[in-house]
Amino acid sequence: MCDRTGTETLENLYCLRCNRELESGQKSVAVYLFAQTVGVRPRQKSSAQRICFCAQCAVSLGMGPPPEGALNVAAWQMIRDVVGADPALTEAAWEDLRGVAATLPENDAEGTPRPTGTNGYLEF
Ligand SMILES: [Zn+2]
Repeated sequence: MCDRTGTETLENLYCLRCNRELESGQKSVAVYLFAQTVGVRPRQKSSAQRICFCAQCAVSLGMGPPPEGALNVAAWQMIRDVVGADPALTEAAWEDLRGVAATLPENDAEGTPRPTGTNGYLEF
């Protein structure tokens, strides 16, 4: 049912977590969300929402602890799936972090958190 041939609208997209503007072609994660009724006729279906996370936030979320709320947990698990499946996304996130780290004092390096990728439930 999805058309992936590049017909997406060219609206400006912002990371839901950090509000960074996502440029066209930038590595990011999009979560598509819609609701539909089950067992009700005629079936009702909401419009689809597209929620975006920049690579850094997606990796940070995916490597982090589960959030509060069943719906948030469901989204978190989906993000973990795609983050774990695509090293390019993690690399993009680290490139972002290196850019940030370059502006920090050298003696702060030991406090830098590192994603381990071994502390959980990544399944492929
Ligand atoms: Zn972000």
